[in-house]
Parts: sequence; structure tokens; C-alpha cells
Amino acid sequence: MSRCGFLSSRKQKAMQKLNTALLTLSRLVIGLTFIFSGFVKAIDPVGSAIKFEEYFEAFHLGFLAPYALGLAFLLAAFEFLLGVNVLLSLSPRHTSYYVLIMMSLMTPLTLYLAIANPVSDCGCFGDAVKLTNWETFGKNILLFAASLFYFIHRNKVRYIYHYQIHWIPSIVSFVFALLIGIYCYVHLPLIDFLPYKTGSDISKGMSIPEGAKRDSFVTTFVYKRGVETKEFTLENYPENDTTWHFVEQKSVLLQKGYEPPITNFSIQQAETGVNLTEMVLQDSSFTFLLISPDLTEAIDANIHNINTIFDFCRDNNYAFYCLTSSSDIEIEEWRNSTGAEYVFAKTDRTTLKTMMRANPGIILLKKGVVLGKWSSFDVPDEEGITQYLKNTKNNILKTETHRTQALIWRAFALWAILLAMLLLFEKALLVILGYFEKLFIKKNNNIQNKSIMRKKIVAGNWKMNKTLQEGLELANELNAALAGKAINCDVVIGTPFVHLASVAAAIDTTKIGVAAQNCADKVSGAYTGEVSASMVASTGAKYVILGHSERRAYYGETTAILKEKTLLALANGLTPIFCIGEVLEEREAGKQNEVVKTQIEESLFELSADDFGKIVLAYEPVWAIGTGKTATAAQAQEIHAYIREVVAAKYGKSVADATSILYGGSCNGSNAKELFANPDVDGGLIGGAALTVANFMPIIEAWG
Ligand code: PEP
Repeated sequence: MSRCGFLSSRKQKAMQKLNTALLTLSRLVIGLTFIFSGFVKAIDPVGSAIKFEEYFEAFHLGFLAPYALGLAFLLAAFEFLLGVNVLLSLSPRHTSYYVLIMMSLMTPLTLYLAIANPVSDCGCFGDAVKLTNWETFGKNILLFAASLFYFIHRNKVRYIYHYQIHWIPSIVSFVFALLIGIYCYVHLPLIDFLPYKTGSDISKGMSIPEGAKRDSFVTTFVYKRGVETKEFTLENYPENDTTWHFVEQKSVLLQKGYEPPITNFSIQQAETGVNLTEMVLQDSSFTFLLISPDLTEAIDANIHNINTIFDFCRDNNYAFYCLTSSSDIEIEEWRNSTGAEYVFAKTDRTTLKTMMRANPGIILLKKGVVLGKWSSFDVPDEEGITQYLKNTKNNILKTETHRTQALIWRAFALWAILLAMLLLFEKALLVILGYFEKLFIKKNNNIQNKSIMRKKIVAGNWKMNKTLQEGLELANELNAALAGKAINCDVVIGTPFVHLASVAAAIDTTKIGVAAQNCADKVSGAYTGEVSASMVASTGAKYVILGHSERRAYYGETTAILKEKTLLALANGLTPIFCIGEVLEEREAGKQNEVVKTQIEESLFELSADDFGKIVLAYEPVWAIGTGKTATAAQAQEIHAYIREVVAAKYGKSVADATSILYGGSCNGSNAKELFANPDVDGGLIGGAALTVANFMPIIEAWG
């Protein structure tokens, strides 16, 4: 290699390394962000639904509000699924499209939010992490860049799971996120990120700590004298000048000060309007608050449990209030339908939704500190609540937190174990199947000799298909599908000339050989439009398909021309995949043996035994090429055995036994195994089925 070539290949390798590192980084950034954002939304579906409603209102799409909760479940599960897919290299082609589409929509949307501010918090991380709209936009720019990089390099992603079962871990993850969402909807969010979480002190949450920054305003005074209007500050306003008449005072916020997490907590008795806030917050005994933002939407299936708690409070002299934002009529209806005897009080609707994600649910307070929260489905019975109160007295509330944390870890562990087991199962199954297959083939077809003596090859012939970009995409995809996979045959792809160098540079050529589909019968010179064997070799290609029936039929390639091409290919270190085969009339006339023998003799039999040993033969009955008609396994075996005899007669048994003879002609994933099981069939030359990875891989895998 020249010094210049050496340097540029080093540069290429460095670029490849950089791309791989950036791809891994992009996948980590996208995967972890999507998993986190899906998870925090899933654990608080009601919070996400509230956010959706805010968006619908801001964008005048109020008619979508009834679907907010359903959308919240789906968005959380979908984000989680995409994150898992990106991180575990599942279906990278589809996933990269979805991620890019999502980021292409979200990035301009968040730019609009940052500029117009129709909602103050985008809610992308639920209530777990609050970002300003500009921070969200910045985050999305980063994610968009990562998504674009991931999309461009999607074919270089190495698979972890077998490509045919990618849908299983995806579905497991989607269902897992949905179940988490449903669990948290029925019970309460597994992690409470809101200011009324268990353990928080509401009074403290409302107060501004000493020394905290306050809002700072600038105040101006507008005065009028005759027709003149003027603004003054505190320093220069005309205090003693009676010719000026005061009009108004203006205050403009200069800097936002500390904002307490709780700003709108107030309780007013429904009938009397008496403010109960201080009384409730200062009560040194236990206070139970039944929370229902809207009584008409409250689930009344567990009303019996709630009434039990109320009776318990009455018996033990504990206060019990129902806080709602419903109207007096709605309160009356609730009383009538449930027999409620407790005191009703009014509280702001948003505050109630922040206090409790279930409708209804119960909060236990003591001196304004939240000691417990239950959705109506989890309200304890009398024995349970007695024990709970005892625990709070003994200050062992922490056990509750530990229990929730344990639940989250258990849920995650279950999901991770399922995915790990699937991976293990897949690998074990492949090993076991491979073992049995080998055993079976060895017993039935005596294929062992073949595997010892000859190369097994699956070679694709793309013919005149695919633009350079499409070809690169296909090659990269195949590369990814084969990466880290144990395969039992050599894989070759025969691309058009223009693809050769790019494909050879893009893929792992230790796993996939690159082949040209032809080369010139001349060394070099004035042969316009021709490509020489040395040019082919200079691209990094290692093979050349010669004598394909289409070249013989449409481009007049005779056995003599093919002899020249073969010599030049060998001289340039290329392995010829030399095609032979009869047309339909010849087969029908029973002349197939004669035809293939002549083709071999006239083009190849002047080679030395050494050179002949470098040839791969491909028997392709012309009537089977691209027609969907395949030679039967028996037909293939019969003629392959004959071809080997012809070679043996000329070069001896050892050369014949070492010559790989491929079968070609409508070979596909369904018939490859049967064809390859023949003792004299050493693989396939594949046309149509080589044009997609989904069709080509099963043929490669036919070798076990
Ligand atoms: C070929 O052209 O070499 C070939 C075998 O084509 P197909 O697999 O499409 O029949």
C-alpha cells in the first residue's frame, strides 16, 4: 500500500472509531433520557393527564381533554419503549425513525413554548425535574442532535438480541410501563414528587424562610398637571407641589424572589365559609382529610372503607373533613348517595389535585405534617389504621417509604430479569439448536466431511439493483445483523462496481466478503466502460462473480472470454465465483451434464491444479434463476456430484473434494436448509433473496 493510502486508511479507521464512540454516546443520551422521562410519567399518570389538559387549553384543543388520561398512559409507555429500544439496540431502523420524528416535533414546539410561554413548565420529566421552557428547548436541541446522529448511523448499531425477536423485549417494556402506569393510577404514584408527599410539613411549605430572596419591585407614581402626565419615583414625586394631581401607582416586578412550594392552601367550611386552615394545620391530634377535587368524578366503589375511617375518627375524637371544589349542590348529592356525615370544606381544585392524585383519597395530618396518603382503593380497615397511627407515634413511618422503594426496585428487577432471561434463553436455544442440527446433519447427510474439507459459502448477487446509498444501507444492516453472531459459513455480497469501495470500507470485511459481478477480459487500456480485475481488487473486494447466465446471454460472454477473465481475476488475487448451468431446453433434453462439463472444460481446465483450487463453482440452472422454480434437492445433489466427478477426473479427488460448489436459482430461507443438506452442495449464490437482510439472513442461518 502506498504511504498516502496507508495514511488515509488510518484516518478512516480513526473516523470509524470516533463515529462508534459518538453513536454509543448518542444512544446512551437518548436511551436514558427517554427511559427516565417515560418512567416518571408512568408513575404519575394523573399528573401527566393534567399537563395534557393544560396543553389542550393553551392550544384551543379543549375537545381532546377527555382523552388526556389515555394519552398520558400511552405517551409514558411509548417513551419508555423507545428508550429501551435505543439502549438495547432493538429494531434500530424503526426506532431511529420514531425518535427522530418525535424530536423533530418536540424541538420546534418547545422553542415556541420558550418564546410564547403558553404553559410555564413543559412537563417533559413530570414533576420529578422542573425545567424552564428555555432549559427544555436546550435539552431538546441536544436530543435532536443525538437522534439525528443515531438515525444516520442506525445501520451500524450492533444487535444484542437476535434480530427476529426484537419485538419481544420491546413489547415486554411497553407492557411494563403501561402496568406501572395503571398501578400508580389505581394506587398512588410510587414516588411522590409533590409538596404534599408523606413527611412534608404544609405550614413550612407555605412559609418563606428567613433571609430568602423576596420579589423585588420598582414602584412609580403617575401624576397629572393640566394636560401633562408624568411618572415619578419614590425619590422625586411631587409631595408638596399641589399643582400635580396623583393618578395611579405602578409596580413592576424586577426580580422574582423565593417562591414557597405551597402557595394556595386554604380550607373554608362549605356551609359557613369559616376558614379552617389554621385549625387543621395546628391540630396536635390526628386529622383525616378526604380529598376529592370533583365529587361528580369521584370513584365511589370503596365508599364503605371511607365511611369506616370516618366512624373510627368519630369514636376516637379525630377530626375528619372532606375537601372538595365541588358546588354545594354536588356536595348535597354526594351526601345523599353515600350517607356522608362528615364536614365538607372547599379548597382550590388545583391544590386538591396536587395534594392527592386519586379521586377520592385520604390524607392523614398531624400538626400540618402529612403522615399518610391512601387512594380510596388502599384505605386501611380499622385494625390497619390503628396500627398505622401507632407506628406514626413510634416514628416508624419510614417503613412505608421503604416499602414503596422496595416495590419500585422489585418492579424494575422483574422487568430486567425478564429481558435478561429472554437473552439467555435465546442464546441457549441457538446453541442447543445448532448442536442438534449438526448432529442431525452429520447423521443423515454425512456433511461433516464437507465441513472439514470445503468452505461453506452464502453469496448474494445484487445484480443491477440499489443506488449507492441504498446499497450502503443494506450492507450496513447486514453488517449489524451479523455482528457478534457466530455464523457457520462465509458470507459474500456481490455489489455493482460503484458500490464496491464504499461497501468494503463500511463493513467488517473479516465477516463479509465483497464481490464484483464481473471484470474485464483485458488488463488495462482503451476499453471504455470496462473495469479491470486489478481495479476490482483495489477496492477491497475479494471475489468476482464470473460467467453468470445473464452475462453469457445478454453480453455475449463466451467460454473463451470467461477463460481470460478468470485468469486475470486469479492474477489479481480475486476468488472467482464461476457460474455454470443449463437453460430449460437443455434440461428438458437431458443435456444438463454435458452443458456444465463443456462450460467448465472450455473456461477452466487450462488452469493449474493450484489455481483451480482457488475457484468457487456455482451451479445455476438458468430455468431456476429469478423464476421461483428451484431445482429439487435431489436434482441439485445429482448434478453437483457430477460436477465434482468432472473436476476429480481432471485434477484428482483431493482438488475436487476441496472445491466449493454453490447452488443458485430461487434459493430462499425456506428451501436453503434442504438444499444445503446435500453432501455436494456447499452453499448458495442468491439473487432476489439477497436484496433484504430479512430474506438473506435465514439463508445464512440455514448453515446453523
Ligand atoms: C442469480 O441470479 O444468481 C440467482 C440465483 O437469482 P435468484 O436467487 O433470484 O434466482
